Amino acid sequence: MSFDSFGLHPDLMRAIAEVGYSTPTPIQVQAIPEIIAGRDVMGAAQTGTGKTAAFTLPILQRLMPYASSSASPARHPVRALMLAPTRELADQIAQNVSTYAKYVPLKSAVVFGGVDMSAQTQQLRAGVEILIATPGRLLDHVQQKTVSLSTVSVLVLDEADRMLDMGFLPDLQRIVNLLPKARQSLLFSATFSTEIRKLAKTFLNDSPVVIEVAARNAAAENVTQVVYEVDRVESKRAAVAQLVKRQGLRQVIVFTNTKIGASRLARELQREGIPADAIHGDKSQGERLATLEKFKKGEVEVMVATDVAARGLDIAELPAVINFDLPYSPEDYIHRIGRTGRAGASGRAMSLMLPEDQRLLIDIEKLLKRTIPREKLVLMRTPREPSASRDDRLAVDSPSRSRTPPTKKPTDPIFSEPYQPQGAALGVSAAADTLVSKPEASANGSVATPTGVPSRASLSSIRRGPRSVPALLGGKPKA
Ligand code: AMP
Repeated sequence: MSFDSFGLHPDLMRAIAEVGYSTPTPIQVQAIPEIIAGRDVMGAAQTGTGKTAAFTLPILQRLMPYASSSASPARHPVRALMLAPTRELADQIAQNVSTYAKYVPLKSAVVFGGVDMSAQTQQLRAGVEILIATPGRLLDHVQQKTVSLSTVSVLVLDEADRMLDMGFLPDLQRIVNLLPKARQSLLFSATFSTEIRKLAKTFLNDSPVVIEVAARNAAAENVTQVVYEVDRVESKRAAVAQLVKRQGLRQVIVFTNTKIGASRLARELQREGIPADAIHGDKSQGERLATLEKFKKGEVEVMVATDVAARGLDIAELPAVINFDLPYSPEDYIHRIGRTGRAGASGRAMSLMLPEDQRLLIDIEKLLKRTIPREKLVLMRTPREPSASRDDRLAVDSPSRSRTPPTKKPTDPIFSEPYQPQGAALGVSAAADTLVSKPEASANGSVATPTGVPSRASLSSIRRGPRSVPALLGGKPKA
């Protein structure tokens, strides 16, 4: 199937060709014709499936008759409203809209909190057909009468499950009350919980088209999952540092359950010499975008994030995620691991589990309908033991990368003990830490036998080099 079969306007086709899409994704195949036909749609699809184009392209197609180059605000009333739970997701949708509407005189704007309202107000006053917003800031604008929603004919609720989790239901209710009753409504959610179905009943018409591109509540197939049992909370920081180091992870999101935990972990990893930064709701919009930008450029290698901050980010081909804390909600586990193994690439999801977190794992496994392999993670040193600097370790770990040569000999046994091959070659899915998790640890935490120690060649074979920017955050997809 190709994009030609949807009957999209040539100006949209031109933008699609330019961005390099040749085949529509499954959600696009199913949703685009239904939305063009004006039907309400309830779509179960995660970020990474192409869902933004799946609703944006047909909406643009429907709005084509209203496209106008006139400068008069009256000629640009808000016709499509796209609501998203977080600033980052709203921004991402807005970028998609601009890309696909590049050759069409339909105007769009994005409004979210955490930044000054005046620039947004100016844009709104000039008139926009497509408005992307987070609920709270949209209501601020409504209150200030900088925007009227009475002309909206299409409503999109993106990441609806997250909006409910974040307590946006009253705001959504207030917004929907301001919209015309006769409108098209589209709801997208990573999972279809009972609450989401209830929400759909309230906001969508009686018989929405239901589209599910992945099995209900299914986790990505191509993600290797593993749970590492960690004895004490104090060991978790060292465990993360070890996983990052052993697997040579250059781009990894580490999830924590709390904002304070995210900041603390980022600081501690930085102290270890690992380029890390935190992204969470208490950071200003500017700080969050700056961190994302650095992550995109590879200046930040470990992004420590809370669920809210990381949700919906289009980060393609992320090789791994680490759950520093197991999430309280099993659905969040699916969202988190959905950050990796996207677009057919293989990914690795590692979770640290304290003995008291067994219950959380059981809930996750119930939702996944399968068990996740558990392994004991043997730390190579005690958490408070002073460590070699990151530069030192990298100089040893990765001869291909030119960094400051080590000034002292590494004491880590993984480098000083001889390696005895086991026969089987190492692959990404049998990553290095899996092996170091097997040997017996002596009382001081060092590995007693070298059997599980990967060779340097093996380590460098699973280590990725610097990644291209387009592969990351909101970057241009590959042609
Ligand atoms: P989304 O799920 O909307 O966040 O999209 C995930 C990524 O897939 C984005 O980087 C899109 O640019 C990209 N994408 C969307 N549709 C297609 C397509 N038909 N072919 C290739 N890439 C696509």
